[in-house]
Amino acid sequence: MNTLLSKVSVAEDRGRPVLDAATREVVGHAPVHTVDQLNTAIAAAAAAQPNWAALGHAERSRLLHAIADDIDAHAVELGEIITHEQGKAGGEGEAHGAAHWLRAAADTVLEPQVLHDDGTSRAELHYVPLGVVASIGPWNFPVMIAVWHVAPALRMGNTVVLKPSENTPLSVLALAEIFRRHLPEGVLTAVSGDREVGAALAAHPGVAKIVFTGSTATGRRIVESSASNLARLTLELGGNDAGIVLPGTDVDAIADKLFWAAFMNTGQVCAALKRLYVHESIYPDVVEALAERAEKAPMGPGRDKANRLGPVQNPAQFEIVSRLVEDARERGARIVTGGAAAAELGPLFYRPTIIADVDDGAAVVDEEQFGPVLPVIRYTDVDDAVRRANNTEQGLGASVWSADPDEAAAVAQRLEAGTVWINQHGGVDPAIPFGGTKASGYGLEFGVEGLKAMAATKVIRR
Ligand code: NAD
Repeated sequence: MNTLLSKVSVAEDRGRPVLDAATREVVGHAPVHTVDQLNTAIAAAAAAQPNWAALGHAERSRLLHAIADDIDAHAVELGEIITHEQGKAGGEGEAHGAAHWLRAAADTVLEPQVLHDDGTSRAELHYVPLGVVASIGPWNFPVMIAVWHVAPALRMGNTVVLKPSENTPLSVLALAEIFRRHLPEGVLTAVSGDREVGAALAAHPGVAKIVFTGSTATGRRIVESSASNLARLTLELGGNDAGIVLPGTDVDAIADKLFWAAFMNTGQVCAALKRLYVHESIYPDVVEALAERAEKAPMGPGRDKANRLGPVQNPAQFEIVSRLVEDARERGARIVTGGAAAAELGPLFYRPTIIADVDDGAAVVDEEQFGPVLPVIRYTDVDDAVRRANNTEQGLGASVWSADPDEAAAVAQRLEAGTVWINQHGGVDPAIPFGGTKASGYGLEFGVEGLKAMAATKVIRR
């Protein structure tokens, strides 16, 4: 009996069914809140905000630590809900990760700055709360990303209205239930609804800031609606991250990291490796090493912890993955391994797929696949690989792989991305700012920069 799930799941006639990503069985029912209920939540958040701000940093941090401890204490139950509705094997790990990031936000120091002091005049820069922050999240790391939004916002003295993805609402409602046990009324409210509720939240005049993680298309809509409420925005949008493997790289030394950079969370990671450019001198070796790993990677329902790859989370994403692979096949690309559903495991499983002899212009290279598929592209000239890697509207992450770190660092300077990793890809850290460039969005999360993004600045001069 999962007590967290029974607490947040509503009666069948009062909510919408949420399906297990692996089995497509009903996990529970999520409430479908109305715009009226959203308005009530925002009014409660606005009413609670002054007292929450008045508590001060030390007390807020203490409460965030208590919540982190409670998340850890319920990680098995919370992880089970994540695994059911998201599909991943690491649901419990995601819950512990959320607790870790919450503690980091609680402990990060952001002091007022003295900008000028000559004995007769002085100017100080202070970081003050914005008011009500709206968080709108995706389905790939529902709990982790909710904490990425909520933790710095609360820490800085804002109150939050949180809207989870309609694909994974129950885990986020369960997370909010844990928060609720520790916080004054109205400080954090989860509103579970679909796109209409998301759109109403983004456009609401009572919202001072929106932190959004999701697709570039939705990000653009949120920018449009911010013209009316002038809400500040942090937008973590889609990516189509390129990796470049330089000539002379030891393939065996990087193969595991390369594979998991693309296939972690079954490829459903914003900053996963999504296009891999490999120098012709080592191209066959890299393709073979990746295919070998794809064939061995244990795939199946996440409730069996031996599995490392799970299902694609939802049918719409499964269609995208299938369409991109079919398009590549029709263009004559070589499907080295995979390239088909793994229907024996469940309706949304897709075999880990390595595509070779594919080029820019193929949809699987030009578009974000967000699934267990990696196109591997041959190049001859490093300058050309850099040009092709940058030839996209997106700019979330990128990576360079080389035996020579200085050479890799020089190439990294030329890549257009918010983060460029060397001999790794996709790792994030609570102390290191993360954010995109170009159509991957703007604004930073994590660390001191993440706290600043959840505050207004106020200058005091005398
Ligand atoms: P999505 O844009 O379809 O949905 C995200 C959220 O926005 C959902 O909660 C949805 O209900 C809400 N929404 C939809 N329309 C809205 C509107 N008009 N106004 C306000 N809210 C609205 O994205 P998704 O399919 O859930 O997530 C996958 C995408 O997210 C991928 O492109 C991926 O790259 C991206 N992503 C980015 C990051 C990052 O940090 N950059 C992290 C994870 C996922």
